[in-house]
Amino acid sequence: MNLHEYQGKEILQRYGVAIQTGIVAQSVAEAEAAWSQLGSGVVVIKAQIHAGGRGKGGGVKLAKNLDDVKTHAGNIIGMMLRTPQTPGGMEGPGKLVRKVLIAEDSYAPDFNACKEYYVSILMDREKKCNVIIYSTEGGMDIEAVAEHTPEKVQKEWVDPISGFQGFQARKIAFNLGLSGKAFKEFTTFITKLYTAFVASDASLFEINPCLRTGDDRILAVDAKVTIDDNALYRHPDLEAMRDKDEEDPTDVEAQEFELNYVKLDGNVGCMVNGAGLAMATMDIIKLSGGEPANFLDVGGTADAARVENAFKIILKDPAVKAILINIFGGIVRCDRVAQGVIDAYKNMGNISVPIIVRLQGTNADLAKKMIDESGLKVYSAIQLAEAAALVTKVLTEA
Ligand code: GDP
Ligand code: MN
Repeated sequence: MNLHEYQGKEILQRYGVAIQTGIVAQSVAEAEAAWSQLGSGVVVIKAQIHAGGRGKGGGVKLAKNLDDVKTHAGNIIGMMLRTPQTPGGMEGPGKLVRKVLIAEDSYAPDFNACKEYYVSILMDREKKCNVIIYSTEGGMDIEAVAEHTPEKVQKEWVDPISGFQGFQARKIAFNLGLSGKAFKEFTTFITKLYTAFVASDASLFEINPCLRTGDDRILAVDAKVTIDDNALYRHPDLEAMRDKDEEDPTDVEAQEFELNYVKLDGNVGCMVNGAGLAMATMDIIKLSGGEPANFLDVGGTADAARVENAFKIILKDPAVKAILINIFGGIVRCDRVAQGVIDAYKNMGNISVPIIVRLQGTNADLAKKMIDESGLKVYSAIQLAEAAALVTKVLTEA
């Protein structure tokens, strides 16, 4: 689950990480109130959407006085903001901005006396531990830095048993070229940041820029935070931060149906039980000349209601030219799944793409008979190879 910058900063603040102070606003009136609450000084107005690169797209503006606050808040709230990270990039439709963060100008009084750094924490799956990635080249595109000057991006791995150590904090501060008060501030900053990362079950913290101010304070000016969905059950306060407006509507619906769904770019929809079988099914689709349109694990109880919900989700994608249902009937009997497919098919009434059903396991023969005799445009198979051949056949006929 991705969070907005203002929410990410709220989490950081709970763990004592120094942040650029700010107040979120949904209207120009709220922006004005936030500005006076912050002391009526220079502020920065920042669009809150789930995408980075907002600065490049005109979603971050400095406001020197009340007039500027009104102008920029007025322009940014309600705009379709295009950034290199919104769907389709700078040529795409952009994302609607519903909220702005009004934040103190952290770079005052002297922008040039400040220095922007890059700090992120994420899981290194190969090393099986968390890694802190950092660079002196913050603020700009870290991908470009990594590509053109990889030596400027450094990594520090954290032992999961002993945790983040003081010497590591000092090593990072040293490698960033910090000294004196800024050095001490940074070691506190990074130590608390790591604690916040672990405690909130995050899968990503990206602080870019992490700012050293003219008077040697260290602040998180931006915060990109992703929380591991599988850990949300133990963080109801974080779960409450979910912003469904920012998420893909099909993903939201799949979540509500408790289906494990990931949209892909292909033309063959898949409905499978079990993640391993789903992966194997996607391989088979590729081998038979198709491209999977999605990953979808319906879970253990593939009854009529779940099958119908899964159909609905898959058919939202106009690119789908065929659907392959591949279900292993172990706990759930194949004839029950077959009945579910037939019922769902009849209930939906408007399914025009061919459906290939491969049911294997308990009562597989009965299930095949039921599908074959249903009179619906549903092809059945027992062997996976037969199912694959059917996929190839319907795709070439389509
Ligand atoms: P992003 O473009 O979506 O990553 O948004 P950021 O929060 O990183 O802001 C983009 C850029 O705006 C930063 O790299 C800064 O250069 C600038 N910026 C952000 N906050 C301030 C601020 O308080 N004062 C000034 N002068 N510039 C700021
Ligand atoms: Mn940023």
